[in-house]
Amino acid sequence: MKCRVCREPAIIDIRRHNANFCADHFLRLCRDQTQKAIDEFAMIERGERCLVAVSGGKDSLAVWDILIELGYEADGLYLGLGIGEYSDESGAFARAFAAERGLRLIEIDLPTHYGYDIPRGAKAARRAPCSACGLSKRHLFDQAAIDGGYDVVVTGHNLDDEAAVLFGNVLRWQTDYLGRQLPVLPARDGFPRKVKPLVRLGEREMAAYCVVRGIDYIVEECPMAVGNKHLGYKEALNAIEAQSPGSKHSFYFEFLAKASAHFRPEAEGDQADLVACERCGAPTTNEVCAFCRLVERAGGTPPEAGHAVAHADGSVAVHLGGTRRAPAPAAPVELPTGSQVGSQVGSQVEAEVPA
Ligand code: SF4
Ligand code: ZN
Ligand code: ZN
Repeated sequence: MKCRVCREPAIIDIRRHNANFCADHFLRLCRDQTQKAIDEFAMIERGERCLVAVSGGKDSLAVWDILIELGYEADGLYLGLGIGEYSDESGAFARAFAAERGLRLIEIDLPTHYGYDIPRGAKAARRAPCSACGLSKRHLFDQAAIDGGYDVVVTGHNLDDEAAVLFGNVLRWQTDYLGRQLPVLPARDGFPRKVKPLVRLGEREMAAYCVVRGIDYIVEECPMAVGNKHLGYKEALNAIEAQSPGSKHSFYFEFLAKASAHFRPEAEGDQADLVACERCGAPTTNEVCAFCRLVERAGGTPPEAGHAVAHADGSVAVHLGGTRRAPAPAAPVELPTGSQVGSQVGSQVEAEVPA
């Protein structure tokens, strides 16, 4: 097996490219594919400040690493979910990654700063854990980006994630979600832009990227993901891909090119007027936003200005809270959070997102 570029021994075969790559050219491929996605969908301008949603898993650490390698300005934000050992370990991986590279990692801890954790809070609020988790992540990443003056929130969704989300949305013809399943969601008042630069790269490639780059990441799935439909969709798509390499790529990118626009009018039609949440200032269709209601039901403490946020570089910042502006009247509505919604931020528009 030889590298397609230099004919040296290859370390990975990528069947959908019908090619093998050595370590150096594989890394270059990952960076090139990321840059291509950024350019193709106008995700990030040079000089913009990125906030990467870091989970401690391979995708979020890889996208952070690639952005830095490509010369973008990117800080990380880790959200402690209070999911036992899983959270302890994933936080440790995120911190170690940032510390080794001298990168800035902002941390928000749900139990410490908001008084609830996902397993107990979800139960108290009578929500599925992934629903409470997704809602918390979306709100807090948006808030942190706006408060911190970041231009864009970056998530590590890869091609496998996006194809599986699409598969789930198509299975149930969730046309409103289909109209919003895009690799970039533009900023609007009160919401930052959200982008997915890894959409041209698969799960296997991201794991290989981390191995080659020496990035340690949490391999275990979140224990709350057990029974997640999303994992089943990935397995189904993997079986198809094994028979017909390139199927996932075609499924997703042909959807974007040929079908996505047909669903957009419905998605945009769903948008209602937004007002500022009377507690935290976030855009919402109600007096109190879904996050503040979740915190209340989960038995937590309402978000307040002034809580401390520790950074990996040892500094401690103060999260301002409540500084988001009331949105323009025509801004889109806060989107629904179904039982499968949400393991990664940036997914507020999807019916189903990956763990
Ligand atoms: Fe959150 Fe993902 Fe765990 Fe669900 S599986 S609780 S969305 S981290
Ligand atoms: Zn090579
Ligand atoms: Zn609120």
